[in-house]
Amino acid sequence: MTAKIINGKEVAEKLRNELKKKVKNLKQKPGLAVVLVGDNPASQIYINMKEKKCNEIGFYSKKIILPESTSEEKLLGIIDELNQDPKIHGMLVQLPLPQHIDEHLIISAILPHKDADGFNPINMGNMLIGKNIIIPATPKGIMKLIESTGIKLEGKHAVVVGRSNIVGKPISILLQQKNCTVTMCHSKTKPLADYTKKADILVVAIGKPRAITKDMVKKGAVVIDVGTNKVYDKLVGDVDEEVKKVAGYITPVPRGVGPMTIACLLENTLECMELQKRL
Ligand code: NAP
Repeated sequence: MTAKIINGKEVAEKLRNELKKKVKNLKQKPGLAVVLVGDNPASQIYINMKEKKCNEIGFYSKKIILPESTSEEKLLGIIDELNQDPKIHGMLVQLPLPQHIDEHLIISAILPHKDADGFNPINMGNMLIGKNIIIPATPKGIMKLIESTGIKLEGKHAVVVGRSNIVGKPISILLQQKNCTVTMCHSKTKPLADYTKKADILVVAIGKPRAITKDMVKKGAVVIDVGTNKVYDKLVGDVDEEVKKVAGYITPVPRGVGPMTIACLLENTLECMELQKRL
């Protein structure tokens, strides 16, 4: 068996084209602000990519780059200005933040209806109780990728490896909302393979290059590889290439989850704008 490749680049492009069409008919452009503190090279690449994709589909974008030494107070002030700026409908602060800045405090300062990343505790809490208002971009993109396969989710056993706030926890909620039976695994799960082997749908977000091997995957499973790891300048996932030989569907790295995250961030910005019109 060779797995069908879930082409995230294509699914993302389709979503961006849909957004582009919607934006054409709007009186005002949806605006996304991205704030970066420090000069982390990976973060710089991410924010430039977000700006590029914003402009390509006719969104307004604002990029704010601050020095590593920026105080928490100064950053809170900038968030407050963006909260009030009528041209900005969605914003995000690129993570990770320097150690002297409290990430939770900063994310909580973004108004929930301007929270394009969906990380604000109000948006996360709403999702937990089944009120999906703004869903974090990566798990939202993962759901769209799984749905693109056409497989029925109800009654399936989904195993999520990794319990981060930005991927593992939210994706487990979204899968459960679709009536999957969800098992959560993490670094203390022993032995991990006993769980992964039982997955009809396996989502891996651990940041460990090629950690999930062929013998850990059920034949025909849908495998979503969220990992992005640099190994000798090459980008590799958390799932080993050989898994293709047993899985039914698999996302590649790159061109899998990554492009969907940005497309869903743009969709969230438009949803924030629509939400603000109703307030
Ligand atoms: P994270 O904050 O780095 O946390 C890693 C999680 O994986 C933790 O819950 C940890 O368990 C678990 N873990 C680590 N080693 C493990 C192992 N050997 N077996 C089982 N569980 C293990 O997670 P993240 O931010 O979600 O990032 C995960 C990966 O996804 C990274 O490579 C990141 O770059 C990538 N990512 C990609 C995108 C995208 O758009 N493509 C978006 C977000 C993240 P404990 O909780 O027990 O420590």
